[in-house]
Formats: sequence, structure tokens, C-alpha cells
Amino acid sequence: MGNSLSGFQDSPLQPNKPPICCSSGAAALFRAEHIDNYRMIVEQSPINARARAGHDYLPSLISVSKEIPKIDPNAPWPSGQVVWMDPTADAGLPHTRAPDLICISRDFPSADLSSTILHERVHVSQRLHPSAWKDIFEPWSFKIWNGSLPSELESKRRINPDLLGVPLYIWKDTWVPLALFKSSNQPRLTEIDLVWWDAKSRTLLRQPPPGWTTFFGSIPAGEHPYEIIAYLVAANPKENSAYNTIKSRLMQLPKNSV
Ligand SMILES: [Zn+2]
Repeated sequence: MGNSLSGFQDSPLQPNKPPICCSSGAAALFRAEHIDNYRMIVEQSPINARARAGHDYLPSLISVSKEIPKIDPNAPWPSGQVVWMDPTADAGLPHTRAPDLICISRDFPSADLSSTILHERVHVSQRLHPSAWKDIFEPWSFKIWNGSLPSELESKRRINPDLLGVPLYIWKDTWVPLALFKSSNQPRLTEIDLVWWDAKSRTLLRQPPPGWTTFFGSIPAGEHPYEIIAYLVAANPKENSAYNTIKSRLMQLPKNSV
């Protein structure tokens, strides 16, 4: 009776923290700034401040009734706290803030919400469990890089709120991927070149280094292994060497949220 296969059910998806906007969103962003200083750091970088000029970095002041995907309890990704944002905030690019905020434009297409929130939940895990993530990319031959970039490159880097305080990583002890603004005069958050700093020859590569695309695939904003893995988790490709190499390590990540 109760002991047949019918007794097995798919594990129920867990409810999310309800999304917020308006005054609760503003309070959450205020607390986030105290912890991560993202907006202050942007203001201190002329090119990054210019790229965000005219944006209203605010929560949506209109309430939103879109459904967000529930959590799979078998996966290690925390819920995070969705904050609906003004569509101009960070040019509508979804991003995370401390400690576990997932900031998404109220105009974000519903059809893409599920995979985008999963991508951002990977970033929330990176925020909540930095020590568990520290060595996870060893099978990818990615290591923390302690070198420094020439100042003209440093000054063209797009600040990514998901990577604040996270060190750069070097691939195969040689190449450091970076996201640079295409234009210095009219920088736009959505117009970026993915480049690789060759730390050995101290030259800039504008094409992927040998073996990169075969291993990782074509990942548009693969400026850092944190971004590459968030992209891969959301895309869940069947045949991707990088993803297959690291999948079992992801399942060991802590599951607790804040
Ligand atoms: Zn991302």
C-alpha cells in the first residue's frame, strides 16, 4: 500500500522569500551599501560612474506581481532576496548585493526570469560562503592571482557588483580574464570586451587563449570563474567539459542561507 513506488514523490520545491520593492527595497539596499559599499566604489571610478550616469539606482516604486522560481532543495543554491529595481538601475542588468539581495528590473522578461534568478543564486552562494568557493576551481586550472594590472587597464575595468572584494583569477598560470569597457569616452554597462591579460608576457589578448573555448564553451561574460560557473549552472549544458569537471564539487557546497 504505502510502500510501493507511489510512495516516492519528487522533493517539494521550497518557498522563496517574497520579493520586495518600494520602501522595503530601499531599506534593503541601504543595508547592502553599509556592507558592500558598491555605490561608493562606483562613484570613485570615473569610467564606472560615467557608465551609470542618468540611471536611477533605486528599487521599483511600483509593486510587481511576477512569480519567481522556487528553490530545489537538492541543489545548493540559496533563495536570496529578490528586490525589484527601477528599470534604469545598472542599465537593467540583474546583479546581487550584500548579503543576499538579487536585484532585478521590474521590466525583466518573465520568460528569462527562471534561469536568471538561478544564475544570481549562484552569486548569492559565492557571497555567503566565500571560503567554500575559494579552491573550487582547481580542476579548471584557475587560481587566485596576486599580481597587478597596468593602471591603464585597471582604469577601464567594469565594476561588477557580483565580484566586489573577490580576487582576480589566473588560468593555467598565464591568462587573467577581464571585462573592459569598449569605449572610454562613452562607456556603457552593456558594451564590454572580454579580454585576457597574459601575466607572463605582460600583453593583452583580445581572443580567447588556446584551449579556452574548447573547455569552457562560448561564454559571453566569462570575465571570472564566478561568472563562468553561474552561467553554466543556469544553462545546464549536457556536454560541456568545464561544467562536467566541476559539477560534483558544487554539490558539496553548504546549503544554508541567511
Ligand atoms: Zn553573473
